[in-house]
Amino acid sequence: MSTIDRRSFLLLTSASLTSLPAKSFLSFGQANAPSRLLWYSTMRRCGQINYNEHDPLTMEAEGWGDYWASLKVDAVLLNGGGILAFYPTQVPYHRRSQFLGSRDLFGDLVAAMKRRGIRVVARMDCNLAYEDALKAHPEWFERNPDGSPRPHAESPWLFATCMFSTYFPQQMPAIYREINQRYPVDGFFTNGWPSTGAPRVCHCENCRHLYEKLGGEPPTETDATNPLYRKYYLAHLDRVLEIWRLWDSVARERSPESVYVGNLGGGLDTVKDLKEISHTAAWFNADHQGRSGETPIWNCAQQGRVAQSVMQGRTITNVAGAYSNAQPVWRHVSKAPAELTLWLAQTTASGMVPWFHWLGGSPEDNRWREVGRSFFTWLAANETHFRNRSSIADLAVLYPQRTVAFYSRPESHRPRYRGGPVDYLQGLYYALLEGRFLFDFVHEGNLDATNLKKYRALLLPNTAYLSNAQCEVVRQYVRGGGSLLATFESSRYNEWGDARPDFQLADVFGVHATGEVIGPQANSYARIEQPHPVLQGFNGTVLLPAAESRVPVKSDSPLALSIVPSYPTFPPEMVYPRTPRTTEHAAVFREAGKSRIAYFAGDLDRTCWRSGNADLSQLLQNAVKWVQGDDPVVSISGDGIIEAFAWETEPGYALHLLNYTNPNMTHGAIRHTYALGPQQVRFRVSRGGSIKSVRSLRSSANLSFQQQSDIVSFEVPGIADYEVISLVANR
Ligand SMILES: [Zn+2]
Repeated sequence: MSTIDRRSFLLLTSASLTSLPAKSFLSFGQANAPSRLLWYSTMRRCGQINYNEHDPLTMEAEGWGDYWASLKVDAVLLNGGGILAFYPTQVPYHRRSQFLGSRDLFGDLVAAMKRRGIRVVARMDCNLAYEDALKAHPEWFERNPDGSPRPHAESPWLFATCMFSTYFPQQMPAIYREINQRYPVDGFFTNGWPSTGAPRVCHCENCRHLYEKLGGEPPTETDATNPLYRKYYLAHLDRVLEIWRLWDSVARERSPESVYVGNLGGGLDTVKDLKEISHTAAWFNADHQGRSGETPIWNCAQQGRVAQSVMQGRTITNVAGAYSNAQPVWRHVSKAPAELTLWLAQTTASGMVPWFHWLGGSPEDNRWREVGRSFFTWLAANETHFRNRSSIADLAVLYPQRTVAFYSRPESHRPRYRGGPVDYLQGLYYALLEGRFLFDFVHEGNLDATNLKKYRALLLPNTAYLSNAQCEVVRQYVRGGGSLLATFESSRYNEWGDARPDFQLADVFGVHATGEVIGPQANSYARIEQPHPVLQGFNGTVLLPAAESRVPVKSDSPLALSIVPSYPTFPPEMVYPRTPRTTEHAAVFREAGKSRIAYFAGDLDRTCWRSGNADLSQLLQNAVKWVQGDDPVVSISGDGIIEAFAWETEPGYALHLLNYTNPNMTHGAIRHTYALGPQQVRFRVSRGGSIKSVRSLRSSANLSFQQQSDIVSFEVPGIADYEVISLVANR
């Protein structure tokens, strides 16, 4: 099969692929021998000291061993080499730290960790090398169109290496093998590779040969409208997977329990196909260390949801940067403790393993140490409650990988109505937080009947790019009684962005597109034409704000919410509607059998995120509530902006509550916690399940509770920054 055929095949048969066995078990000997869990699949805490070239002069190994042992970590990441070796390497062009002297810093640290029973993963860097390597192996390096190498912006004595060269399949494995032979390491990790960002375009000889095979040079910007880009996107992914598999096999030469882990992550915004990478990755490391600018505090939990959507219970770590990684960045001072703790808390709440990260082996700022220690020792003391079996959320938000990757890129020919690629998802997410809903992300590569079965409703935040097969899964889900919420251009394009004349899901939405997108326009409205549960709570008005952009649609459904077209906002004398009433649907709400379907023609989600308008969030919340139906699996009432996760765990259940109520919620850093008062919880356990105790793990208190059939009710007296309620089952 050609590459493209194979990809289409993968898209079409995602149902069968999701049932692949998890790579978490290792079988010893014959087929029927008992298998046991691999070490990284049960890892709960992880640390990293990221030392530098100068550190061999001053860094002391035993003190670091004591520190990481005090955090009760299962594994520590230690810098082995790649750019620079921290041990006396013999591999040509693997440069030793100029301050290494006769020291073996890596070896000292590995020994210090092993003496304390801590696993070691060698942290490597495959992305850069020195000029002597460039001279000896010019073919290893990335090139600009004029043939010049690509020096690092801040450290221009280092040059970018090319993934398509022999540096990746030969030089890096030579280094891994040397480390494997000399040190008892448990795995390898590469900094910065492969990442989830856009594939880079290189002009080295190897890459030029590749482009000849593909039929020409791909565009440098992400542009899925270009057939060459499509081919390059797939070829690039194939190479990533080929290298990942090779490095994993080299790691396992030392022991079948060893592992290679790549670097992924970056929150909601991903270009590389995470679903494809997850088939190869035994362990997903999300390198989402902190936030900057206007990034909301919940961005870490979003990262957790994205990673869960492909790993589905297999190992995910997230790197929490203890240093001040805002914009601008400070590598050698601590982040505010309250911000760092809430980042660690989100990592844990969303089902990832925290990986606590500091830079520099001889810190002058040591404030971060206690933040990690107090959080990690608390985790260790309550470890069993963090062993999750599955999420019990009953709402699914589709993680629209290809829409996120391609829809609004490249920026240079982005149609004006398309916002940033994740604004739609951000807007829906904000409404879900405000409405205190419990939900999971389902990756579009995992759209199948089995994965959707547990959810009452599927939410499509402008899932513009969907294949015919994916649309068919949604159609069958709704036919089978599932409910649906969709916005704007959902299903208007195929998986590569080729436009369709109408929504592929027109029959499911109950609407047809009648033209091209209108907008963006301020000052347009939606008129409430008749009562509907989604339109409740807007007492005192018949006008609601409308989305900035909309698809003009027609529908046979009764007119519940109509469009009032945009009119001038200035000067005030001119501010009146020229067409105060139309029969154009702003939304369609319909029921088919047991299913409820809500479709919004506007980019309500994105407009909600951009404007912060309360009515738009309320409208989204009402729609989610309506498609979800009565008696959600968990309801939490009380004041505050919280995010909740509920997991079935080994002892029973755990409800994680993150308190985001803070003036620094959308502009960091959180420096103080504003505690919330009592929260009333109704929690549905599995049928016939009986709960023997309910306990708040952060405040260390037993809570009184009542159970009536499968509903457990209790009050959480308060939430400081983070609370975890364990419900222990009678078994
Ligand atoms: Zn190249």
